[in-house]
Amino acid sequence: MKISSLLAQRPTVSFEIFPPKKESGDLSSIYENIAQLAELKPDFISVTYGAGGSTTDYTVEIAAAIKEKYGVEAVAHLSCIDATADHLHEILGRLKAANIENILALRGDYPQGYDPITAPREFQYASDLDAFIKAHYGDTFCLSGACYPEVHQEADSLEADLDAMEAKVKAGADYLITQIFFDNRYYYRLVREARNRGITVPILAGIMPVINGKQLIRIAHMSGCSIPYELSAMIERFNKNQVAMGQVGVNYASNQIMDLITNGVDGIHLYTMNRPAVAKEIMARTGAILDVFTGREHQ
Ligand code: FAD
Repeated sequence: MKISSLLAQRPTVSFEIFPPKKESGDLSSIYENIAQLAELKPDFISVTYGAGGSTTDYTVEIAAAIKEKYGVEAVAHLSCIDATADHLHEILGRLKAANIENILALRGDYPQGYDPITAPREFQYASDLDAFIKAHYGDTFCLSGACYPEVHQEADSLEADLDAMEAKVKAGADYLITQIFFDNRYYYRLVREARNRGITVPILAGIMPVINGKQLIRIAHMSGCSIPYELSAMIERFNKNQVAMGQVGVNYASNQIMDLITNGVDGIHLYTMNRPAVAKEIMARTGAILDVFTGREHQ
């Protein structure tokens, strides 16, 4: 099912996972994770593609398994930063053959060893990828795009980043998923600005439970999101105790989710970091609220 059809009916709750490192080549632990996540009945699970410069090798295979083996709708991430049209056709052909109907189309993180002089430069922006997929595959795939409550690091201004967001919607993105944020006011600002510009597509909120201080610093550095004082104070206080820190992360994310739902968010996308136990905790805390939110209580 296309996620756009689902979003036309109701808000969604979804999870994001990433493939194992290329060297390991062992997919068994990711399949165990998916099995546990599937029990939580998300509307879809998305699989990253080369995020943080990691491997792009297993995304199609894992997305196909999510759908076929675990009966959950899958969204395959796809990036274009160093891709050629031929390579994209190959991946898109495999996605089509595996009946994957949903793609999160991205420019992508720079791959390890990326050299802007020698790398292919056929595609510069996510909107180029949207346009390419629409031109060659029509409506075969439902497309989504990334957006940035705290503005993308390379953008000159909020206005310039909103232009980029508008460009991907015009090029075919049916809905958007936000970068991580820890202060909901940035999400509300983004939605307000988008609506003021006439961008009406659903904007799903990307939420990440933080489970240790080191992880938070890495994520903040990579994504450019700010860390509110309350969160950094909690981390400073509890970081040495892993169990307490886990509870801090789950509580903080759950509170964000409850506030977002109360204020009419379009959907919740949980960055699970391949830790189904954390996703389970959050669902245990917010499950009834999420069921009312999505209307799944009546299904
Ligand atoms: P774009 O929308 O192309 O934007 C990139 C920059 O260019 C921005 O600064 C934007 O303002 C600017 N820009 C865009 N269009 C134009 C234009 N026409 N003219 C001038 N400037 C323009 N990365 C991965 O590698 N793999 C993944 O699986 C992955 N999953 C992600 C999932 C989510 C939900 C999110 C939020 C991010 C994900 N990323 C992933 C990270 C993403 O690839 C990076 O944030 C990347 O730096 C930008 O990708 P984009 O698709 O938003 O790019």
